[in-house]
Amino acid sequence: MFGGIEAGGTKFVCGIGTGPEDLETDQFPTSSPDITVNNAIRFFRERRIPVEAIGIGSFGPVDLHPRSPTYGHVTSTPKVGWPNFNLAGAIRNAFGVPVGFDTDVNAAMLGEARWGAARGLQDAVYLTIGTGIGGGALVHGELIHGLIHPEMGHLQIPHDPARDPFPGSCPYHGDCLEGLASGPALQARWGVPAGTLPEEHPAWELEAHYLALGLVNLTVTLSPQRILLGGGVMQQPHLFEMIRAEFGRLLNNYLRHPEVIDHLDRFIQPPGLGPRAGVLGSLVLAERALSGSPTQLAGEPA
Ligand code: ADP
Ligand code: ZN
Repeated sequence: MFGGIEAGGTKFVCGIGTGPEDLETDQFPTSSPDITVNNAIRFFRERRIPVEAIGIGSFGPVDLHPRSPTYGHVTSTPKVGWPNFNLAGAIRNAFGVPVGFDTDVNAAMLGEARWGAARGLQDAVYLTIGTGIGGGALVHGELIHGLIHPEMGHLQIPHDPARDPFPGSCPYHGDCLEGLASGPALQARWGVPAGTLPEEHPAWELEAHYLALGLVNLTVTLSPQRILLGGGVMQQPHLFEMIRAEFGRLLNNYLRHPEVIDHLDRFIQPPGLGPRAGVLGSLVLAERALSGSPTQLAGEPA
């Protein structure tokens, strides 16, 4: 049995199990670190099932370097109380088991590679479009960490102020991808919550344009076999087809591979595990922490 925590900036999802078949979950809002971590600890204690290891997929930025003195900390977030909080340490101290730690989107990527829509793939991207935009990538079957960790939401993309005068909502960059296309950006530009914009509203054409620009950049940089789009904004089912069409238009026949030319419907698709991708991926982080080495990611080929 493994424990998993999807530590989001809005809510925490805790899970216990071995995979999608037996996963038991609960969730609660993210408040102060003390209250939130105590809720997570209570979740596992109440189950009375000993877990061998716990994985955490966390909002960030986070420190992922095992030899760093601040490994497992949330670093520079604007969320009150959370900067420099030792999240992995708090969980390790409570349970005394190995704790795996990575970004929430890397965890979701891992879950999708093991059980979801990226099963059997070696190279894939998971992008969430919600309160923020964030991405995790699998390259040669392993997650990318790099110097810190990827911050795909802050891609700089073309922004024509004549077409879209909205300056963007990213506090650091204004009109980066997150500043132009996150849920709060949609709300700030159009004055209503993203979920209430009707299907025929011009918001969606612009949204598809920005997201497709981001996906083109990720595709020409990482050469993924598939891109999965999750998060609240992607709960608009018509958006997938609009993004695929715009992605194809922007690529302009440049990448001549059947997956891109003939199968955009599977090249760009929703996560197979839906909202459970992050917490299930956290179970894989737990398993990897226990074994001390990266485990086989891919299940049977999809
Ligand atoms: P978080 O990113 O905080 O983990 P979500 O992925 O649920 O949470 O994203 C929340 C954002 O998604 C909000 O900005 C909200 O306006 C937007 N959102 C939620 N539901 C929808 C929907 N059905 N259509 C479009 N946007 C939505
Ligand atoms: Zn930004």
